[in-house]
Amino acid sequence: MSPKKDSFTLPRFKHKYLDNWRFLSELLLAVLVLLVVFLVAAELDLSGTLYSWSQRVDHLFDLDDLLLSVLLVGPLYLVFFAYRRLVEIRTLVEQANTDVLTGILNRRYVMEVLAREVRRSHRYHRELSVILFDIDHFKQINDQFGHPAGDRVLKSFASLAAGRIRDLDLLARTGGEEFMVVATETGGMGAMELAERLRSAVESTNFGIDQVVTASFGVSQLRPGESFGSLMQRADERLYRAKRDGRNRVEGPGANQPRP
Ligand code: GH3
Ligand code: MG
Ligand code: MG
Repeated sequence: MSPKKDSFTLPRFKHKYLDNWRFLSELLLAVLVLLVVFLVAAELDLSGTLYSWSQRVDHLFDLDDLLLSVLLVGPLYLVFFAYRRLVEIRTLVEQANTDVLTGILNRRYVMEVLAREVRRSHRYHRELSVILFDIDHFKQINDQFGHPAGDRVLKSFASLAAGRIRDLDLLARTGGEEFMVVATETGGMGAMELAERLRSAVESTNFGIDQVVTASFGVSQLRPGESFGSLMQRADERLYRAKRDGRNRVEGPGANQPRP
């Protein structure tokens, strides 16, 4: 963990026209297919063939009933098919936004949401803060108690933090043992208090290993006109300072620093 310049970049959004072009080209394709099918059906007189065939099997059923059945079942099948696809897509989107180990949000998703929240805060003059935090000496926990025990610590750590943030705050795992809270409608002082509550909860929780687990925190509040990258960088620099100054501490817009 080191404060690198330009280490935080806005997620790239796909340009809108790509989707519009895709929609138009698919619509055009559908119209072309319809035209070809119609021409082939007219050329081969498919309806006539179907009608004469239904005349031959007249004693078995009416053509009307057959067509009505197709008209009833066709849309029902399409609805069923579309619903199943929708459920599958929802699951995929959820998986794409979730960290596999801890079940909280992943880095990709939280960065996307943060970029949006930054724009929203600027437009409506709302407060917004981020808290970056990182488990102290986690490598040594892995080395001493094993990787599976390290994984269990990560899971408990995530659920501990999840239980202590507000409903509207977002919690994500942004790296191996690095986490982040996006505190919406929250100023620097409020975020500092939250970070301190988290720090103290971590320190006093038994994570099932014969060792006290601690974490270091870097807090930053969005400044007027500030970019997403600069907000993240300041939190990262403060986290770095918390590590450098002894770990198990919160660094941010506090009494010893100029207010953001
Ligand atoms: P510091 O106090 O400076 O943060 O030191 P640290 O040891 O916590 O930091 P460092 O970056 O040196 O080590 C992080 C370790 O986290 C190394 C890596 O093996 C471990 N790690 C990363 N992802 C996972 C994971 O998913 N599970 C487990 N068990 N360990 C992980
Ligand atoms: Mg660490
Ligand atoms: Mg780390």
